[in-house]
Amino acid sequence: MCYTGGMENNVSRRSFLVSSTALAAVAGCTTAKADGKTEGLPAQFSTDLPISKESGIRVRFLGSGAAGWRPEWAQNPYARRQSSVLIENKVLIDFTMCSFDKLPEGCHPEVLFQTHSHGDHYNPKAAVKSGVKRMYVQETWADAAREEVGKAAAKLGLPAPEVIGLPFGKPVVECGMRFTGVPANHSTSRVTNGVLERTSVYLVEKGASRLLYATDTGGLMGDAARMIGIDPHITAGAKAFVHKPQALTAFIMEATDGDSDEDFRLFVHSSVQTVSRIVNMLIKYGRLALPSGQHAYITHLGLKYRDWPSEQIEKELPDTLRAAYDGLEVVLG
Ligand SMILES: [Zn+2]
Repeated sequence: MCYTGGMENNVSRRSFLVSSTALAAVAGCTTAKADGKTEGLPAQFSTDLPISKESGIRVRFLGSGAAGWRPEWAQNPYARRQSSVLIENKVLIDFTMCSFDKLPEGCHPEVLFQTHSHGDHYNPKAAVKSGVKRMYVQETWADAAREEVGKAAAKLGLPAPEVIGLPFGKPVVECGMRFTGVPANHSTSRVTNGVLERTSVYLVEKGASRLLYATDTGGLMGDAARMIGIDPHITAGAKAFVHKPQALTAFIMEATDGDSDEDFRLFVHSSVQTVSRIVNMLIKYGRLALPSGQHAYITHLGLKYRDWPSEQIEKELPDTLRAAYDGLEVVLG
């Protein structure tokens, strides 16, 4: 079932939206061979792997809500599934059981990147059933994920995806795009091999497009901003900095706390005000260069916005922001 209702009728007012009916099954992506520069890491980590020269990253929101999805909500056209996105019809970032019905028909993603292990983002059964071949998780919990996914696969009688531990700031190339996990300001209680899990947000690069997909996180961590190249302290002349200044061109961030800046989850989640402040600052300092007509998006909506139509939410949002909804597809420059 596809619950478009009145929401996707608004497609025409946003020139960069893409009709979901235009989607077609996409051939799987190939994995490049190792070239000796992977330093013991899988071939996808090679610094020599090229990415697509074509700019524009197609993003489909398979879910745009915070935790707590209930199956009966599927009848509500405005209820939001647990947050997940499909990139270029090939790569998932987070995926749970409730989002299968938002995958385009005939689409078989090959790769899954996990932001963290909370149950509204990570589900071993869903990962196996999705048929992905590779699954990336932050290296601190890779062993646990490997075991859980292996058990789910055995139970389902299906092949288990290869689980790869991803270090922060180490880019990996998949399907012609570069993905870099950087630290999120979020926490879980999971301890693997005596180490507390570190959680991630992702930089996605294709051609000249640079998208930050940031959920779950309370604002942005300083070291993440530095790795991405958006910390305004980093200037081209400052040789002491390892990371070069580089603007983002697209921005998606969670606003779990709605319009409340006094939510008790201040240290692990963001509000509309947080996102707006970050977006305005990045634009002011030239570290976010949104193409004309393109907005930044909020997702992982909870509290009062949980099942509001996006048009209604947008009446309360600053002009730079738009609210994602389940099934929304955009091409971000
Ligand atoms: Zn979380």
